[in-house]
Amino acid sequence: MENDTLEIVNESKISGILDGTKDPSFEEVKRVLKKAREKKGLSVEEVGVLVNMKGEENMKELFRVASLIKNEIYGERLVFFAPLYASDYCVNDCEYCNFHASNKNAKRSRLSMEEVRAQTEILINMGHKRVLLEFGEDPVQADIDYVVSVIDAIYSVKTPKGNIRRINVNIAATTTEDYRKLKAAHIGTYQLFQETYHRETYRKLHKGPKADYDRQITAQDRALEAGIDDRGLGVLFGLYDWRFEILSLISHAEYLEKSGGVGPHTISVPRLCEAPTVNYRPEYPISDDDFLKAIAIIRLAVPYTGMIISTRETAELRRKAFKIGISQTSAASVTTTGGYGKKSAMSQFESHDKRNVEEVIEDAVEQNLLPSFCTACYRMGRTGENFMGIAKPGEIHEFCRPNGIITFAEYLEDFAPRELKDKGYRLINHFLGLIDDERLKKKTAEHLELVKKGKRDLFF
Ligand code: SAM
Ligand code: SF4
Repeated sequence: MENDTLEIVNESKISGILDGTKDPSFEEVKRVLKKAREKKGLSVEEVGVLVNMKGEENMKELFRVASLIKNEIYGERLVFFAPLYASDYCVNDCEYCNFHASNKNAKRSRLSMEEVRAQTEILINMGHKRVLLEFGEDPVQADIDYVVSVIDAIYSVKTPKGNIRRINVNIAATTTEDYRKLKAAHIGTYQLFQETYHRETYRKLHKGPKADYDRQITAQDRALEAGIDDRGLGVLFGLYDWRFEILSLISHAEYLEKSGGVGPHTISVPRLCEAPTVNYRPEYPISDDDFLKAIAIIRLAVPYTGMIISTRETAELRRKAFKIGISQTSAASVTTTGGYGKKSAMSQFESHDKRNVEEVIEDAVEQNLLPSFCTACYRMGRTGENFMGIAKPGEIHEFCRPNGIITFAEYLEDFAPRELKDKGYRLINHFLGLIDDERLKKKTAEHLELVKKGKRDLFF
């Protein structure tokens, strides 16, 4: 199989590019950064130049260009979601994860449908509208029919404070047939992280069905075959050299676009965290500076791919990351099965941002970012190629700002204390004024009034 996956990521080619772009000249870096400004993305070779560049001037320019692109394409909005762990049974033995099979003393659990609905209600009452559903891999405890039942149970919960409107799913690599069931259950994005694109490191760190590198790297092809066209990639930073991982990620993104006509919908940037029962220590720890550099480079290389950061990172680092490329963030996450609303010892890993949703939102508002709970695109059929067709010419912005405004107003009405509500509406009025299209501005203002009167779930 190895030969078949070379088209996705060719390790020796990537190592060759990393060697060939060592110590790039100031002119070379300038050329690549100038090209990035065109917002047409970068080749793997050009990404090689950026990961290898050094010097304060270059870094400043990289961050400047990354934040320009972030602003032009995503504007001020920051989309919020929360993970929900449904089952921590796992047949794999990933060195880095507390759910690994070698954690024999673990008291494992999976949620009953009643518990799923109770967890969903808690998330809704925190203000969330989007969930990222997480499972360990276990063909008995968490087979695809269980996964689908969990999805159905979440969507079925309707409360006076709203409902979950989009469920993204992170399950282990599986068959086209299983992905068809996910598609039929109306998932949003299917996310799967390669963890590391370095085959030898991948082999060393995994045991069980996930140890099959080829099964993992070809999973997104099967997902597309099943009709899932919003696909999310990622690597777990710390397992191998981040430079190699970034080039590989971009190579995988190029491959998805070439083979399926649509690139990744999102790229996540998880970084290894401490975890109970995990003795593995990152062999290639990535410093905060390099991590931010990696985020900025991804922003330049695939400008139309949403980028996701989680509460694995500190508030301080997240603030910086929002400026240079991140468009989606989790808040107030719990990484234990059924862990919302109660204490539990069985967390997958330690989070580093433990603030509640309100605190994260307040902080975003302070930075002039517009918290968005928008889920309009996939509900309007704007997925995959359709989505990219409007995202690339910049038209998506037209919908995102009004939808961000309306969903943030819902949050302010339903959850925010007085002071945050005042600050939030000041921000909303500012961004409402920036909507160019007069007709759309008027319609958004009308929707806002309806939200204030209690109407919900309006979108463009
Ligand atoms: N079990 C599935 C899988 O492995 O693909 C589903 C997702 S797992 C719950 C989500 C992700 O958490 C993994 O893909 C991995 O990248 C990440 N993860 C595992 N252990 C971690 C740790 N110690 N620190 C940070 N992220 C971790
Ligand atoms: Fe299981 Fe996923 Fe954890 Fe690996 S990362 S042990 S597959 S839950």
